[in-house]
Amino acid sequence: MKQRILKMLKNSEDFISGEEISKEFHMTRAAIWKYINSLREDGYNIESVPSKGYKITSLPDILTLGEVEPYLSTNFIGRNIQYFDTIDSTNKRAKEIAFDENEGTVIISEEQTDGKGRLGRHWISPKGKGIWMSMILKPKVDPMKVSKITLLGAAAVYKALEDMNIKSQIKWPNDILIDGKKICGILTEMNCELNMINYVIMGIGINVNFDEEDIPMDLKDKATSIKVSQNKEINRKELLGNILNQFENLYIDFRDEKSISKTIEICRENSALIGKEVRIIKREETRVGKALDINEEGELVVEFEDGVIENVYSGEISVRGLNGYV
Ligand code: ADP
Repeated sequence: MKQRILKMLKNSEDFISGEEISKEFHMTRAAIWKYINSLREDGYNIESVPSKGYKITSLPDILTLGEVEPYLSTNFIGRNIQYFDTIDSTNKRAKEIAFDENEGTVIISEEQTDGKGRLGRHWISPKGKGIWMSMILKPKVDPMKVSKITLLGAAAVYKALEDMNIKSQIKWPNDILIDGKKICGILTEMNCELNMINYVIMGIGINVNFDEEDIPMDLKDKATSIKVSQNKEINRKELLGNILNQFENLYIDFRDEKSISKTIEICRENSALIGKEVRIIKREETRVGKALDINEEGELVVEFEDGVIENVYSGEISVRGLNGYV
């Protein structure tokens, strides 16, 4: 009901009287007053003038469905957003509810107190400054293909930024960089039987409006934010809407087991690694080579020092530049 009242207020440029609202929703003026106050607590500025009624004067910078919806053109991705002000980890929450929720459900929190990167590494997620989200997917494909979803996510983030005139690069397989520094990480996790996927959780963390001082000292050489790089505040709702739109478009090909060449092309053409010397780190072992390409399977093609060319599967590996992060 709160959302319906909010929609009515948003759709009107002028004041709406309490009487009009109470007629529309068959409720008392006192009940409406309660909803209006609750919306105010959520951050909506609502002016009230006794003879005229209510009018919204400003919207809060929050990533609820109500605020993101105007930017969405999807059919099923992001049409159900579970929104939190704070949470330990959006991936963790998504895993808890994945069996009961439909494909495309998205968990979003304004902050994560225990956000995770790959291999259990800590992911910093300060309040209101980023996009911290996890998506529930249920593709009926071979579990071996799931690592490609990370590339779909990376390509979607790349395209969404491009829509806002922001140039980035994809560091295969799971990071997005601006000016050679990480602004986004993707963590894909899966629950499956032998040859059937129960669900996939794709977590995406984006440093959107971090100021310089929000980036910890020990990450300054490898992490930045979109705001720091562009020198301006970014509309998080628009960026999130763009990402969900772009992702659905790319995901449909994957889900329907069609070619994902659109995704591969985006990852290839905007790769931070192709043509560079890289270190491929797998547990204790590090090998040095040159990244040549990303193949149609989404694997990184690397020519190692001994001249052997191998397709590297994205599993549990990390890629680094010879002397630094890239
Ligand atoms: P990589 O594959 O680059 O090592 P992961 O995907 O494992 O990265 O992400 C975890 C690492 O990312 C952490 O160990 C930390 O160094 C870094 N990190 C943590 N939070 C952030 C953030 N908000 N932005 C950029 N990098 C971060």
